[in-house]
Amino acid sequence: MRLFPLNIYIIVALLCAASTAVHADIVSDVHRRMHRQMQEEQSDAQLFQALVDSLTNQNEEDESTFELYPSLDLYTDWDDAHVDPLRGKTGISIPDTMAIDMSHFYAPIVGKINSPYGWRRRRMHKGVDIKLYTGDTIRAAFAGRVRIKKFDRRGYGYYYVIRHSNGLETVYGHLSKFIVDKDDYVKAGDPIGLGGSTGRSTGPHLHLEFRVMGIALNPADLIDFNTFTPKQNPYIFRSKKAKLEQEGLAGSGEAAYHRVKSGDTLGGIARKYHTSVSRLCKLNNIRSTTTLRIGQRIRYK
Ligand SMILES: [Zn+2]
Repeated sequence: MRLFPLNIYIIVALLCAASTAVHADIVSDVHRRMHRQMQEEQSDAQLFQALVDSLTNQNEEDESTFELYPSLDLYTDWDDAHVDPLRGKTGISIPDTMAIDMSHFYAPIVGKINSPYGWRRRRMHKGVDIKLYTGDTIRAAFAGRVRIKKFDRRGYGYYYVIRHSNGLETVYGHLSKFIVDKDDYVKAGDPIGLGGSTGRSTGPHLHLEFRVMGIALNPADLIDFNTFTPKQNPYIFRSKKAKLEQEGLAGSGEAAYHRVKSGDTLGGIARKYHTSVSRLCKLNNIRSTTTLRIGQRIRYK
């Protein structure tokens, strides 16, 4: 027995199917988001395990000289005020040594190095410049969360700072377009923006920085820019103090400084204080080719 004509049954059936599909879409969207969040947490756990595994393969001496995965409580706050998150803050101590898990590195872009890290015409260049074409995709170097998404007309142009669970923060400058938002979670290799030449820039390139608690590292110490792969894993971060100790330069009393006068050279200063140019370079974190400024303080012991 039929209560309604057949076509009514068909219409009702079709409507049910359609609403199920829409519902499934909403559910899967919510589910995807939950899943993504779970993945974030899970990847943290995996990173931790990977680091523990890599560390247990190190020799005993190494194991005792750095902390395990300190980044979980390394950074105390989350703000978009400064690229250096410690700027204007006191009482935050930087660990002497720290192991940074590099195993999930993804090259933000591959290209020719236009300009390395280091002193450049009296200004410190705190990152590496990688040549690109405007519109090229820039990808997140590691999984993490976008802390800063800003425009800096005289400097970085459109830029991001992303904080990663391995303790690093990465900076991406001179972008032409943003793809992700502030506070977004990203995975290693996720597209975050498009390359460009905004801000203080003379041509399209990515200005890429690696920082630990605001301290800019030499990217070439972390990444082999011939292959765009990590040089070592984990990378061992050492504070300035720890570096000097490691190189046997610390101790021997108080630090002492020379004030640069007209005509001074590193060689001259080294002779005057019975030391070497290479030691002066190490103590002052400069190169032997660095131009000295009059009035500059040069540490000689
Ligand atoms: Zn640069």
